[in-house]
Amino acid sequence: MLNESWKIRLIRYAHLNQRHSVHLATQTGSSRVVLGRTLYKRTVMSASMKWLDKIRGEVRQNEPMSKHTSLRVGGPADLFIIAKDIEDIKTIYQHLGETPLFILGEGTNLLVSDRGFRGIVLALKENFKSIQTPLFWRTAEGEEKAVVQVGAGVKMSYLVKYLARYSLTGVEDLVGIPGSLGGAVIMNAGAEGTEICQAIRTVTRVNFQGEVEVIKKKDLIFRYRKTLFPDGGGIVVSVELELKKADAIEIQNKIDRHLSRRRNTQPLSLPNSGSVFKNPEGDKAGRLIEAAGLKGFAIGDAGISIKHANFIVNKGEAQAADVLDLIRHIQKVVREKTGVSLETEVVIAGDW
Ligand SMILES: Cc1cc2nc3c(=O)[nH]c(=O)nc-3n(C[C@H](O)[C@H](O)[C@H](O)COP(=O)(O)OP(=O)(O)OC[C@H]3O[C@@H](n4cnc5c(N)ncnc54)[C@H](O)[C@@H]3O)c2cc1C
Repeated sequence: MLNESWKIRLIRYAHLNQRHSVHLATQTGSSRVVLGRTLYKRTVMSASMKWLDKIRGEVRQNEPMSKHTSLRVGGPADLFIIAKDIEDIKTIYQHLGETPLFILGEGTNLLVSDRGFRGIVLALKENFKSIQTPLFWRTAEGEEKAVVQVGAGVKMSYLVKYLARYSLTGVEDLVGIPGSLGGAVIMNAGAEGTEICQAIRTVTRVNFQGEVEVIKKKDLIFRYRKTLFPDGGGIVVSVELELKKADAIEIQNKIDRHLSRRRNTQPLSLPNSGSVFKNPEGDKAGRLIEAAGLKGFAIGDAGISIKHANFIVNKGEAQAADVLDLIRHIQKVVREKTGVSLETEVVIAGDW
């Protein structure tokens, strides 16, 4: 009979061995259709990744990305790591080598291919959710302000409501954006004339060398739906926001108004990834798509929303390929009819 401590040792040993040898689907080749779904043949290569034992968070193999994207499409990621802390991120960078890495927030602006992602998808969402109590001060002009340090995994909607409890204004226009703060910083997310960059004081990231860096706002470049870092990206782990004190009832009224407007104008009952295209200078992508007569048009189960023409919805069993075909079709028809080239806002990732 094995005693308890031996049982634990053996279980741990079995897990360690599982992690030593990792199957990376290096290539996805020919496809066949089974029950209406396209399945891809994968060439599987076993790679030795002993370093995965050092990860304190969770490591999953062949994790379906459809579980982690708001559009509910996307094939498997070879490795899916839910980082427990910054040490896990450093460990990944130390050992990554040539393996591709993708950072996942809440997956609300993301289209991943049906073949999935070859390499590592790193999710921050579970364990980077701390928010510090706001620190208040009064400016020389008598204005009351506050700074608050927020984990990159905190959801925007939660953050806005948390700040409203302290009567802090600055980001309430972003209440209906369903992503994480980290994703919002990378995308310079915006709504109702406000962009997240307006409230940023510093961004803490882990850079490609695995070092933690605090970057001041003045060293970041903010564009429409894009933030540029001094030397490429890295992983945003937390953000320091600067906000103003305002009337709590006014803030709450604004939040209610924005949420109600979204419920009335956006197809929130079906999986989607928000606005698919950036608005071209001086116009709206939705207006152009509607004017091109495309509202309601569908490829497979991927359809242009009747409620909002800049949204593609998954009406049931849509595949990523349907969504991409629809994106290309919209771009072609809008270009032909209006001369405008629509640029995607949604991030397209994976092995196409
Ligand atoms: C119903 C709906 C409404 C929406 N409305 C709006 C809107 O009004 N305005 C708007 O701007 N957007 C909107 N969006 C799009 C989306 O919510 C935002 O772009 C959001 O900021 C994305 O955050 P995320 O955490 O989901 O990022 P993801 O979709 O997971 O990732 C987006 C990009 O950011 C990168 N990324 C994510 N987290 C990190 C991190 N911590 N460090 C480094 N890179 C990271 C990813 O690699 C990827 O390139 C909407 C989406 C939906 C579904």
